[in-house]
Amino acid sequence: MADQLYDFGLIGLGVMGRNLLLNMADHGFAVLGYNRSPQKVTDLESEMVPGTTIKGTSDLALMVKELKTPRRIMLLVQAGKPVDAVLDELIPLLDKGDIIIDGGNSHYTDTNRRTRTLQEKGFHFMGVGVSGGEEGARRGPSIMPGGDREAYPHVQPMLEAVSAKVNGEPCVAYLGNGAAGHYVKMVHNGIEYGIMQLISEVYDVLHRGYGLSNSELHEVFREWNEGQLQSFLVEITRDILKKKDDKTGKDLVDVILDKAGSKGTGKWTSQDAMDLGISIPTIDVAVSMRSLSAIKAERVEAAAIYNSNTKVSGADKDELIEQARQALLFGTLISYAQGLALLHEASREYNLEIPLPQVVKIWRGGCIIRSTLLEDYYKAYTANPSLPNILLDAGIAGLVKSCEAKTRSFLATAVSAGIPVSGLSVSLGYFDAYRSATMPTNLIQAQRDFFGAHTFQRTDEEGIFHAHWQ
Ligand code: NAP
Repeated sequence: MADQLYDFGLIGLGVMGRNLLLNMADHGFAVLGYNRSPQKVTDLESEMVPGTTIKGTSDLALMVKELKTPRRIMLLVQAGKPVDAVLDELIPLLDKGDIIIDGGNSHYTDTNRRTRTLQEKGFHFMGVGVSGGEEGARRGPSIMPGGDREAYPHVQPMLEAVSAKVNGEPCVAYLGNGAAGHYVKMVHNGIEYGIMQLISEVYDVLHRGYGLSNSELHEVFREWNEGQLQSFLVEITRDILKKKDDKTGKDLVDVILDKAGSKGTGKWTSQDAMDLGISIPTIDVAVSMRSLSAIKAERVEAAAIYNSNTKVSGADKDELIEQARQALLFGTLISYAQGLALLHEASREYNLEIPLPQVVKIWRGGCIIRSTLLEDYYKAYTANPSLPNILLDAGIAGLVKSCEAKTRSFLATAVSAGIPVSGLSVSLGYFDAYRSATMPTNLIQAQRDFFGAHTFQRTDEEGIFHAHWQ
């Protein structure tokens, strides 16, 4: 195929790039992949499906030369400096009007900067979130594009073809201005952190606290995945709990060290929420617990000093499992609610014009936080796209109320046993504060005025007041 002009170029043939490119080729696109080190080029070509058109190269100029114009090139390299390094090398080889897509997990402020710089030079630039991991990239991810509206129609057919489908509809939609795509992906990951934390807490209470075996828990998660909790994360938890270790024959989960890693998107979500003044404590705690997990040696030392029992005693097994199910459902609903409230505010504050109905629609398939609950969210946002918080929707409120009582019972049991359930606790705390017409913050205002003359407003009169407290 010497004179073939290719439809699409992809830079970075790592886990995501290689699989997305193979996926594009499956859908009939002629694709060209570039990787700076040649081994990944060889790996790509060895995985090529017969009858598809894929070429790999370690020569960036050659790749650019063999693409149809306007060129469509996606970067799937690590966020941060690697993206700038690749752009510095790529831009001099391109023509004005070419379309560059950053498909990695770039920080949205980097995307804003790159959008401005590249637009000034006459290029189209889109920040696009891709979720679904290795398998998603290969078989159908959820894709969150944002940025250059003019460029989108040029990449839309491809993105729609390769994305996951729910009821025949592609899990991709244009999500707004500037860095909207990367912002939505960042918050997606924040919600993902939240739900993973909640699942781990429920597992801890039932396993370490109550003593259910991994195989019993496998059955519990299997049943949960057939009901309201059906979701990718519950499904993989089910499968994790029955996986054996090749080396020891033990349950693999039991030999995995309890130190969690992270790549930064959860932390960015919390940081930006703080900047915007939006409360997302479930996500904050999830980030924070990963940090706490990392200081294993200190935890071991503290465990010897404080020696807690962490045993749940006297609970009825079926009742405790049902409480756990409802607590997980409750926390999951709150985790989504916090992330979506952040998107609502960020969209307004940064003028991103993020369509929330489309966001929850494309999260229904392909991505890590896909779940049947998103159908309910889609209905809610379709009825009222400008809801500031999904908890104000009557349908979602019904769901939350239906699991509130057992969530309280479950938390009481966990707290009495000394099992850390910070994610579930702050989810309930957030809910209790959000649905409180009055909060004790009048007292905080009084204290602020007392020591710092920060003034306060009154309940019975307009204006700003200061009292002489002493
Ligand atoms: P990966 O497997 O580590 O691959 C990274 C690729 O980037 C490699 O091909 C590497 O090339 C290339 N690269 C790094 N620095 C470079 C530079 N300075 N110049 C040229 N190429 C460079 O990463 P990945 O998991 O595919 O992730 C790619 C992006 O997708 C990241 O932003 C990640 O956060 C995001 N993402 C990942 C997942 C996931 O589940 N893995 C899911 C969603 C999004 P060499 O082989 O030459 O080093």
